[in-house]
Amino acid sequence: MTKTRTILTILILLITKLTYSQAITMTEKQLTDSLYNFIRPSYPEIKINVIDTNGERQIFFEEDKFKVLFPRQRYHYLIHKIPSDFFTENLENTTWFELAPGEKVEDLDYHDDETIESISEIIMNIIENKTNFINKLDSSFTESKVECFGDFRYSKEILTEFRFTEKEQFDIFHVFMNQGGYCDCELLYNVFKESEYAKEYWKNRNK
Ligand SMILES: [Zn+2]
Repeated sequence: MTKTRTILTILILLITKLTYSQAITMTEKQLTDSLYNFIRPSYPEIKINVIDTNGERQIFFEEDKFKVLFPRQRYHYLIHKIPSDFFTENLENTTWFELAPGEKVEDLDYHDDETIESISEIIMNIIENKTNFINKLDSSFTESKVECFGDFRYSKEILTEFRFTEKEQFDIFHVFMNQGGYCDCELLYNVFKESEYAKEYWKNRNK
């Protein structure tokens, strides 16, 4: 009796597992099509390639607008176009490469969480206390009324003016992104909440 029950349990488990894995595995083509549906409205020219290799599913995104963005920004923008339940079901164990035309996988550069953690405090201290970066960025938005392009063009300009090298800026922006600032305006309303722009932003949100 016990033996039969054990065999039965194993059988049921096996069947459940089989149905489950079948349910979650879309073909490369199905997944590509679904991703195009989610992402094309915002990136009409994007190229998406799903490739299964050595038991790993890799997804390549190629987009001209990515040129001025850090890979982490690119990932952030893409992921927001995909419904989270779809992500959980179909994309959880996939590896993504977000490329600008002409870039190779080995060109992609990220910072891991540990590195960001170890440099955050010192970088925030420098930015907040040793430069007037926040004021400068803040007044571009509040006085000169520039518009955000969803990138760091104004922040980069200011940091370059302050003679931060490209490598230093890479560190600085990774600390900023880690705090929820993925573009110039988000830096003001997510990271530097004392800015005039942030106050204005939240006042309008409260109306
Ligand atoms: Zn923005």
